[in-house]
Amino acid sequence: MNQATFKRFSSQEADLLPSHFYNIKADLPSLPKPPLNPATGEPLRPEDLEPVFSKGFIAQEGSLERSIPIPAEVREQLALFRPTALVYAAGLRKALETPAHIFYKYEGAGPMGSHKSNTALMQAYLASREAVETLVTETGAGQWGSALAHAGSLFGIKIKVFMVRISYRQKPGRRILMEMFGAEVRESPSPATEFGKKFYTADPDHPGSLGIAISEALEVAVHGAKSKYSLGSVLDGVLMHQTVIGQEADRQLAAYGAAPDIVIGCVGGGSNFSGLAFPFIRKTLKEGQTIRFIAVEAEACPSITKGELRYDHGDTAGLTPLLYMHSLGKDFIPAPIHAGGLRYHGMAPLVSHLVSLGIVEPRAYSQEKVFAAGAFFYKTEGILPAPESAHAVAAAIDEALAAKQEGSEKTILFNLSGHGFLDINAYAKT
Ligand SMILES: *Cc1c(COP(=O)(O)O)cnc(C)c1O
Repeated sequence: MNQATFKRFSSQEADLLPSHFYNIKADLPSLPKPPLNPATGEPLRPEDLEPVFSKGFIAQEGSLERSIPIPAEVREQLALFRPTALVYAAGLRKALETPAHIFYKYEGAGPMGSHKSNTALMQAYLASREAVETLVTETGAGQWGSALAHAGSLFGIKIKVFMVRISYRQKPGRRILMEMFGAEVRESPSPATEFGKKFYTADPDHPGSLGIAISEALEVAVHGAKSKYSLGSVLDGVLMHQTVIGQEADRQLAAYGAAPDIVIGCVGGGSNFSGLAFPFIRKTLKEGQTIRFIAVEAEACPSITKGELRYDHGDTAGLTPLLYMHSLGKDFIPAPIHAGGLRYHGMAPLVSHLVSLGIVEPRAYSQEKVFAAGAFFYKTEGILPAPESAHAVAAAIDEALAAKQEGSEKTILFNLSGHGFLDINAYAKT
């Protein structure tokens, strides 16, 4: 048989893999307020970002085109694990004795166990097209750092990662994965940067935060020759890369003859929620469908539910452009909860905008509630959710129980953004 005829998937599965990213900005009734250059107070120009990001990424970040093609090289790598499964949660439904239909998109099937590879592959590819040698980044729990380390190794880019200290110590597994792919990993705050040194000198055991780690990564990226910075969430372009999730889910649900009444995702910076929700938000904006969208954050880091919608920096040092977003303030240091990926002081400007338009409902849950939901899900569905994803599980359970009270057969769709096998210690006490 001719090997060239082999594809990773049968043609039916390959058809489900989207050919384009969906850009919600083309369909919104109004655009969010633009990012500002902190030096001038004027809207940011694309060239202002050139010291920081690859030009290809900057073009995507600013694009107003509805559909952006996914390059063949990236699609080929995505096909390693996409389309991801859309699962009908029959076990959970039975245990809850609810008439609701619950579906989840299982993004833990990615090579690093979370949705982060969807944008990591695209960002590493774009960097490789411009002779960038190194991408510098930060990571909380390590899902983003490991996804970028993997993508960098595929596209020939060296990866340097500042890992938030509390997670570095709680979750050694992901550091090991990053190093397996040749990435250089440092605990943040570190003595390696001017900004990190301030915190490190005062307290070498400082737990760190994503805001501080971003400042350290930016400092190194901007000073290095042929190095750029890469961010795993928050930015419009990153949210757009994640829309492969929702586009697949839409087609997979259609195969069941189903459509969601409620769409749920956890939010740290907002990317996995947006990736699932945006293609469905388009249906409410353009096709008159009625769907509720619920974004679940950690009570310990309640950017939307307790923060203010205003201009703020994305990092603690104040190096990034000013973003119009819900923020707890760039100096906010969240408690060291296990959902490291939700420990971010801000929110994606697009998610903040959708909240202000009344399209997205925010909600915050306690760590205790979330781990109980995660453990219950493992017993009923056989997948251990990442602590971040367990926030979405908890909301899906609450909505399924509300449907039971109402006696209504609602269809609930949520994003299971990652698996929790490398977070197993966090479950030890539950
Ligand atoms: C990073 C991460 C999150 C939080 O980031 P978002 O950008 O809000 O998606 C949630 N779940 C998992 C598994 C993650 O790795």
